[in-house]
Amino acid sequence: MATQRTSRPTRGQTDREAGYLTRLLGRIGRAPSGCWPWLGTLTWGGYGQIGRHGQNVTAHRAVWEHFVGPIPEDLTLGHRCHDEDLTCPPGPCEHRRCVNPTHLYLQTRSEQMTARLAHAAAM
Ligand SMILES: [Zn+2]
Ligand SMILES: [Zn+2]
Repeated sequence: MATQRTSRPTRGQTDREAGYLTRLLGRIGRAPSGCWPWLGTLTWGGYGQIGRHGQNVTAHRAVWEHFVGPIPEDLTLGHRCHDEDLTCPPGPCEHRRCVNPTHLYLQTRSEQMTARLAHAAAM
């Protein structure tokens, strides 16, 4: 071991983090489509939701941050499974609860708008 972490988390923090990960990983479902539907609470907009360190965050962001890494502040996390399925109407749909990191991608807000408009135009 080359380096030793100087500030070790306290036992309480470690337990809380472990509890959070258990909740996070325990609420990921598997759908035949390849989507990983969130099995926990959903927001009014149809996104998965989880409490993390006293804050509610959307589940697809929490899963992305766990498996992939931090989300830059100026980017948003889009659903490829939704954006590529133009038969899926805009608004709350089954894809929103999908937390499969390979179905998610970082996009700018203008890319997000373009994807939404493509769906609206396909209707
Ligand atoms: Zn999906
Ligand atoms: Zn959809």
